[in-house]
Amino acid sequence: MLVTKCVSTNLKGHLTIEGADAIELAERFGTPLYVYSESKIRQKIREFILSVNKYYNGNGMVVYASKAFSCKEMYRICMQENIGIDVVSGGELYTALSVGFPAEKIVFHGNNKTRQELVQAVENGVGRIIVDNLTELKLLDSIAKELGKVAGIMLRIKPGVDAHTHDFIKTGQIDSKFGFALETGEAMKAVKTAIAMDNVNLRGLHCHIGSQIFDVDPFELAAKVMLEFYRDIKLETGKEFDELNLGGGFGIKYLKSDSHQPYGEYMKNVAAVVNTFSHELGIKTPFILIEPGRSIVGVAGVTLYTVGNVKDIPDVRTYVSVDGGMTDNPRYALYKSDYEIVCADRAEEDRSETVTVAGKCCESGDLIQENTKIQPVKAGDTLAVLSTGAYNYSMASNYNRIPRPAVVMVKDGEARVVVKRETYEQITANDL
Ligand SMILES: *Cc1c(COP(=O)(O)O)cnc(C)c1O
Repeated sequence: MLVTKCVSTNLKGHLTIEGADAIELAERFGTPLYVYSESKIRQKIREFILSVNKYYNGNGMVVYASKAFSCKEMYRICMQENIGIDVVSGGELYTALSVGFPAEKIVFHGNNKTRQELVQAVENGVGRIIVDNLTELKLLDSIAKELGKVAGIMLRIKPGVDAHTHDFIKTGQIDSKFGFALETGEAMKAVKTAIAMDNVNLRGLHCHIGSQIFDVDPFELAAKVMLEFYRDIKLETGKEFDELNLGGGFGIKYLKSDSHQPYGEYMKNVAAVVNTFSHELGIKTPFILIEPGRSIVGVAGVTLYTVGNVKDIPDVRTYVSVDGGMTDNPRYALYKSDYEIVCADRAEEDRSETVTVAGKCCESGDLIQENTKIQPVKAGDTLAVLSTGAYNYSMASNYNRIPRPAVVMVKDGEARVVVKRETYEQITANDL
């Protein structure tokens, strides 16, 4: 059994992705290759929409955090599914606008947006700019004034959720580069400053406590903390917000040992907190935004590589080198991330060998996985790394002047290129 239902095997014993034979895909499009199951992406989006409808009575919106996987086709899919998107840079914003994504449904994040990016957002009418700090707040107000506009904003708050209990929470604590701290009074001061400004419209507040979180508790706790702050704001200023953005961070299954609740369970529990607490605290039940990234695209993606040399170092380890590496998947080098790897040619055979899968970059740390179990492999075989849909293509680089792989989407067995493979001409295009 493979870790994700997104892949299967056919009569030839080859790995398939939404019905497409991985070996045929590798031959037709070359490797390394990112392959996505389009239906899986849409299914995940719809699961989130359904649970927002069910548990928040439709009083909410799914906003795909597009840094997980950003390209024109992904923005088109979000548009067709009628959800919002998060962007975190002028480049992501530009890409989304280039396919006609409605600006009102764009949420713009970032802890250090440039003046140029803020102008781009205001000029294009981005619905919610998530303001990170006072410098940005003042700059944005003045930019909006110059442009004769009122910018829709939310403030990013660090809810200070107890990171000692939940070590995996990485962005909600006071020592984070993102957002305004609650404990120090900084957040309240920022709220009052924003309320007093003429060219920003404070629609509500935002928090995002981290990523790849399996537990429901920290999400519930963050929601409670935010609602208590809404009550404090109401008491101190009389202002009530219509919206609350609770961020993303829902964990996905990279290995069989990873387990998470169905995403509906998170929604159910957090919605119960939102509904009862807003009632108890005497505040309006806010419209909820959620920002799943990884959980929408992660398991939908597979990376295919061709095996080059297999280097057996007796009593040490066996290196299986592939034609990509940290340039298309830097996550093992960055965080020692786990992945399941299979030989796509013989996907049903026992994974009896323990090997280290290495990339082709001039870095010893350029590994895809260490001491992982795979089928016996030889040069020319195709390796499939599963659940690479999030933070792989979007984190890819041209280190060693290696071109970025193509991205292919498969729908009902039919594959199409959605991002072309980079060429050497493109890599040198800006060189003078
Ligand atoms: C990265 C990010 C997300 C998405 O996180 P996932 O773990 O991919 O769900 C959502 N909101 C913000 C503000 C983020 O920075």
